[in-house]
Amino acid sequence: MRQQVMYPKIPAKKKRKRHKKSIIRQQAGTCYLCVKLHGDYRTHRVLHEHHIFGGPNRSASEAEGLKVSLCPEHHETGPEAVHRNIQIMRMVQQAGQAEYEKTHSREEFMRLFGRNYIEEG
Ligand SMILES: [Zn+2]
Ligand SMILES: [Zn+2]
Repeated sequence: MRQQVMYPKIPAKKKRKRHKKSIIRQQAGTCYLCVKLHGDYRTHRVLHEHHIFGGPNRSASEAEGLKVSLCPEHHETGPEAVHRNIQIMRMVQQAGQAEYEKTHSREEFMRLFGRNYIEEG
């Protein structure tokens, strides 16, 4: 089994503004998972903002713009809902980490979020 290396959280030097724009690119009105899983670009009347890394990492998610817009089915109610399906949750977290690492190092990611979601090899 792979050992998780945990890093202590280091507080940010400056408080960042809340409601940072998401760094995950989406077409306006679409659901991230409708598009990703089904190629469905329909726009939704109701979309929920989902923080990719929740719980204690929610504020870091907010500060770094690691959030996606989801339809209610893909957020909470359906069988593919990110909060009900751990595989879907992981998939979104891996995509979030990969996006973050386009502009930051893995070390920075792990310092901020405490673990690596992208399996190696
Ligand atoms: Zn959806
Ligand atoms: Zn959520």
